[in-house]
Amino acid sequence: MAGEPRSDCLFCKIVVGEVPATIVRETETTVAFRDINPQAPTHVLVIPKEHHADAAALAAAAPGIAADVLREAGEVAAQEKTDDAGYRIVFNTGAGAGQTVFHAHAHVLGGRGLEWPPG
Ligand code: IMP
Repeated sequence: MAGEPRSDCLFCKIVVGEVPATIVRETETTVAFRDINPQAPTHVLVIPKEHHADAAALAAAAPGIAADVLREAGEVAAQEKTDDAGYRIVFNTGAGAGQTVFHAHAHVLGGRGLEWPPG
């Protein structure tokens, strides 16, 4: 069912503490933790605690939680002091776009110059 934890999902395991992560923020509905393979000085993932496969599925099933994820992405940027210089929020959606973990997550990237368009 939409939102239910999945026993085969890495990020569901991070939510319950079964897989360790460097958590930088947590709310009732979200967790933010450092990416294990950072692509910028700040590279934090913000996820909903509920399981949804990607950002679009999250927004369709639980729009309030999708808003929580976005708000937390901004809070992470402020906490990391990258909000003044600018930062990027990325939702890779689908394998063709580079999504490798099918539990919705926002990448918050900052602390270096970011080119446009992304690769
Ligand atoms: P995607 O490629 O957009 O799905 O992003 C998945 C991200 O999860 C990648 O940037 C990975 O480096 C990151 N990642 C994978 N496993 C872990 C982990 O155990 N802890 C933190 N980040 C992870």
